Amino acid sequence: MARGIPCYGITPRGQAALRSDVTVVCRGSNVLRGFDEDVRQAVAGSYTNRGIKLMFGDSIRRLERRDGDVGGGDHAGRIDVTTEQGGRLVADQVLLAFGRTPNTTSLGLDRAGVKTGANGAIIVDANSRTNIPNIYAVGDVSNQFNLTPVAIREGHAFADSVFGKKAWQVDYSNVPTAVFSSPEIGTVGLTELEARARYLAVDVYKVRFRPLKAAVTGDCEARLLKVVVDCESDRILGIHIFAEEASEMIQVLAIAVGSGATMKDFMSAMAVHPTIGEEVVAMQTPTVRYDRRDASHRSSQAPPFDAAAACSEEPAKKTPGPSSSSLGCVCTHKEPRPLCPHKEPRPLCPQQAT
Ligand SMILES: Cc1cc2nc3c(=O)[nH]c(=O)nc-3n(C[C@H](O)[C@H](O)[C@H](O)COP(=O)(O)OP(=O)(O)OC[C@H]3O[C@@H](n4cnc5c(N)ncnc54)[C@H](O)[C@@H]3O)c2cc1C
Repeated sequence: MARGIPCYGITPRGQAALRSDVTVVCRGSNVLRGFDEDVRQAVAGSYTNRGIKLMFGDSIRRLERRDGDVGGGDHAGRIDVTTEQGGRLVADQVLLAFGRTPNTTSLGLDRAGVKTGANGAIIVDANSRTNIPNIYAVGDVSNQFNLTPVAIREGHAFADSVFGKKAWQVDYSNVPTAVFSSPEIGTVGLTELEARARYLAVDVYKVRFRPLKAAVTGDCEARLLKVVVDCESDRILGIHIFAEEASEMIQVLAIAVGSGATMKDFMSAMAVHPTIGEEVVAMQTPTVRYDRRDASHRSSQAPPFDAAAACSEEPAKKTPGPSSSSLGCVCTHKEPRPLCPHKEPRPLCPQQAT
């Protein structure tokens, strides 16, 4: 098999599973900018455990394909990779995944007077309407949530509102997102940091576990499930999963989150055993509570989020509720310390970071 494949992206685990040597060169300080910090850490840890080399704070400066037989033929046709930080790799294949920008330059928007913003994104209001009253833009060209279902729904709302005499707007508050990595990532709602910035008191329920069936295969990799809750209303603000079938789970959980489900609702639901999803209803005690409430703030606006103070907050006790790990599996993974928050701003859409 190939050796030394630098992948500028986030789905290299498959290549590693095929026994390729894989290196991920990543501009940021961690993979998956915009996702919950614990998920990012879990993915990076998982990849590292798989032997994938992660290079952060770097990007590729130069690629040069070797055209001759070098060193006895071993490196013929391979690619010399030089990174901005001076790193050197030899690769068989290089995958560049730089993200996307709206393809609007040839549309003649300037002639029509349509305003664009960063990266040429068409600026629209909540009705997908541009600054020119009879021109609308839906989907990726407005660079908001670059996902197929969002584009479809924006088109639907536009058609109903403008031609169907039934006006409505797309609700972007709980757009579920999946990363089809291995295992998958599923996320809906606010990350922990977003919740802590917006709400006075936030409970974080977090469990790292091994699915029961992993006991059969000897797979000791920790999966992650995290639920972020508003302490005052008990409403669930966000769910983040790094586990098999996370995309399937998050699709259904998004309905509950969008419907205003509380943690009490989740706790009172009966589990299906043995499943990964049962972890969601098994969490009984918050792993950590971030509480900025005091007498002066109780009935007022949330004070500004102090990232530095947040960094120094100590995690509280771990969730003692039942889990797959406690149902017969032994997980040897240690709970890593949470990353320092607010290292990087969250973009509009997590998928843009893939
Ligand atoms: C690699 C990749 C993986 C993705 N995976 C997922 C995923 O798993 N799940 C998900 O929900 N989303 C995913 N997306 C995002 C999803 O594809 C987009 O959000 C979605 O296609 C947006 O729909 P759209 O109609 O706005 O744009 P598009 O689907 O890009 O359609 C735009 C159309 O306009 C045409 N066009 C462009 N310029 C002109 C012109 N000047 N004149 C006429 N026609 C023109 C294009 O040819 C194209 O057919 C992925 C995107 C990429 C690139």
